[in-house]
Amino acid sequence: MNQSFTLGRIAGIKILMHWTFLLLLAWIVFSEVGKGSDTRTIILTVLFVLSIFLCVVLHELGHSLTAKKFGINTRKITLLPIGGVASLERMPEDPKQELLIAVAGPAVNVVIALILLFFVDFSQYQNAENLPTAISGNNFLMFLFSVNILLVVFNAIPAFPMDGGRILRSFLAMKMDRVRATNIAASLGKFFAIAFVIFGLFYNFFLIFIGIFVYFGAYAESTIVQHLELLKGFRVKDAMITNLTILSPNETVQDATRKLLAGSDTNFPVVENGQVLGILTHGQLIGALQEKRHELPVSEIMETTYEAFDINEKLTNVYSKSQRAKNFFSPVTENNQLVGVINRDNLNEFVMVRSAFNED
Ligand code: ZN
Repeated sequence: MNQSFTLGRIAGIKILMHWTFLLLLAWIVFSEVGKGSDTRTIILTVLFVLSIFLCVVLHELGHSLTAKKFGINTRKITLLPIGGVASLERMPEDPKQELLIAVAGPAVNVVIALILLFFVDFSQYQNAENLPTAISGNNFLMFLFSVNILLVVFNAIPAFPMDGGRILRSFLAMKMDRVRATNIAASLGKFFAIAFVIFGLFYNFFLIFIGIFVYFGAYAESTIVQHLELLKGFRVKDAMITNLTILSPNETVQDATRKLLAGSDTNFPVVENGQVLGILTHGQLIGALQEKRHELPVSEIMETTYEAFDINEKLTNVYSKSQRAKNFFSPVTENNQLVGVINRDNLNEFVMVRSAFNED
């Protein structure tokens, strides 16, 4: 199931909305109806939530466009009910670049708040008793102003991998090595994550989700940084699978099935005269079997868009790319000739071997 749908593109970056976002909107409408609000208030409330998320998209674009200055592309920005996520291709290793990318998001909200300052008449809110509780045309911009301030304050919490946590890591990484800096930031991130969950149980259940998100984010990123450190200095040729099963383009689905069952390989490079023509994935093979196309040559169903790596490619680059692919499997070539393949299991195996070496 596709969990997000595309809203459009800004500066070449796909903007996606997760389906649960619609649940949030539905929940808002239902709770407003439950409160007995009139149609105008309900529409304004929905518009308000959409405006918040527009500010969130601009915030994420702040990160993305700054990253682009350092040659890092963003694949997509996803809107979740708990906020936005910009999926950067990679994180910069230079702490100064990371600092600027992290600061750029909240800086956008500061700018939005400053602009709104011109349009909000704060004098009417000086008396605490006059503070409005429901959105109206009058106080819409004041609420939007407050939300932007809140976004800045919330993101300043050093809960890695939230912005504040990234800022903290970049400062730490200027003083110590990146792995240690990440471990410290991630530990603090997990601490805040647990605090969010506990606080959320009593006050605001969105914080529970944010806490879970931060916890696993901190865990995942510190693992990746540790792995990258272990892989430094190695090339694909050090980790690739050389004992592999290949298919020729005119072998049939039935031939491929026999090879699938005979060994432990599940994806196969399709090769002619040593050159890779495509990849037959496990999914494609099973799909063809379900459609009873046993006699079909594999060249007709193979994947022809894939990434191959040169034998001397840095293993850290391959690892970073493997993190983004769902079923990572790539041919490895030398002078355009297939010499091996690399997949996620093998990379993980290599990481385990390296960490065993490092332990003594
Ligand atoms: Zn941010």
